[in-house]
Amino acid sequence: MRALIISDVHANLEALERVLEDAQQQGGFDAVWCLGDVVDYGPDPGPCIEVLAEQELLCVAGNHDYAALGKIGIENFNTYAAQSALWTREQLGADHVAFLEGLPKVAARNGFSLVHGSLRDPLWEYLVSGPSAMETFRRMSTRFCLVGHSHIPFVCAEAEGMPRFDVLMDGQGVELGEGRIIANPGSVGQPRDGDRRASYLLYDVEKGWLAHHRVAYDVSVTQERMRVVGLHPYLIERLSYGR
Ligand code: ZN
Repeated sequence: MRALIISDVHANLEALERVLEDAQQQGGFDAVWCLGDVVDYGPDPGPCIEVLAEQELLCVAGNHDYAALGKIGIENFNTYAAQSALWTREQLGADHVAFLEGLPKVAARNGFSLVHGSLRDPLWEYLVSGPSAMETFRRMSTRFCLVGHSHIPFVCAEAEGMPRFDVLMDGQGVELGEGRIIANPGSVGQPRDGDRRASYLLYDVEKGWLAHHRVAYDVSVTQERMRVVGLHPYLIERLSYGR
């Protein structure tokens, strides 16, 4: 069994399709595990949901999925994020809403917990520090946990005293041994680690192996679509820099 692990698609269809294609070329996958924020910021929320719904999919909800549903207020969002959430809301048909409404906050499969933010605060907490990782390790009933939300690909190993974070580089593999780990596949549709290429993980169950991959996609296609639908220039420009 092989799983494609993705997060933070953010309605970027061009990036999502490139990732699905590239993952096929990297040996393929039987299932897609998605860590939330399927929609918002990008120009194609509906089509991204439709492409994912065609997969053998396990997906949890992100804060932006909830914002698009109106399940959380947008008063804590900055101007461009609030504007984009409202625009996204208008694009969703009944099937899209039903898909997003059906997403759980936490899921588990093959020894992995899946959550957007953290097990302490599934929708909102950025798991990027030792103390926040410890809080999630404390709550894990599985050996491994997958998170998204920060858009930074990393693996975090449980270690005596303080968890150890390693940023994942393209092509890097992680052997799953006895120790517990938390991993983040990075973002498909809006990377924020200075590398604009889409980011994902492939998990090989039999080999006990996670492999990190980056794949370039045509950023200008997504940016042009964003201009056409009138999304904020800040959101358009940041895709060029992976910030
Ligand atoms: Zn996100």
